[in-house]
Amino acid sequence: MDTGDQAQRHRSRMQRKKAVVDATIAAADRDQGLLLVLTGNGKGKSSSAFGMVARALGHGMRVGVAQFIKGRNDTGEEGFFRKQPGVDWHVLGEGFTWETQNLARDIETAQRGWAVVREMLGDPSLGLVVLDELTYPLKYGWLELDTVLADLKARPSMQHVVITGRGAPEGLCEAADTLTALRDSKHAYRAGVRAQKGIDL
Ligand code: ATP
Ligand code: MG
Repeated sequence: MDTGDQAQRHRSRMQRKKAVVDATIAAADRDQGLLLVLTGNGKGKSSSAFGMVARALGHGMRVGVAQFIKGRNDTGEEGFFRKQPGVDWHVLGEGFTWETQNLARDIETAQRGWAVVREMLGDPSLGLVVLDELTYPLKYGWLELDTVLADLKARPSMQHVVITGRGAPEGLCEAADTLTALRDSKHAYRAGVRAQKGIDL
């Protein structure tokens, strides 16, 4: 085995690869407020969004969070982030539609909630806005997609927005700069494990 030859081949392959990577990095030279959509049935949408909240706070940015579906009020992220300076935390939704069982009230709650979001989307001091589980009020028709898209478009040019939730509507996916669909390959819940602190809540 000629290891000198092998090492040389590796070196030239890595040089070619570095040239490609460097060119790609050099080509992405703009700054812009991004719209991220995290959807799909797999676990990791909200926790990814809150990971970005931590990142933004670490950079001294101010962050707005709106939660549209209030399944529980004992999540670790709420307990932690609400206490942090620079976080503007709003719970705008109630339970799921099969919990509230009142369409008129669901619509009113969602619309009131969106008015709060609109203020955040008009506030250039917020570097990041997370709209957690926004896909549900859209899916159930409590909020108009066109209104939501127009307000997102009108936000400050350097403000990032992260939207989470299953079943993101097509128009929202099209508007996204970064779109991630998480796939559910396996979930411990189906093997009978209930939601675990630090992992699921
Ligand atoms: P997480 O908040 O853990 O990132 P998520 O935001 O991707 O999850 P949601 O649809 O908002 O997922 O559901 C929130 C809760 O449901 C979490 O406890 C999560 O672990 C659990 N969950 C997520 N995906 C699944 C799944 N495919 N099957 C069962 N439970 C799930
Ligand atoms: Mg979620």
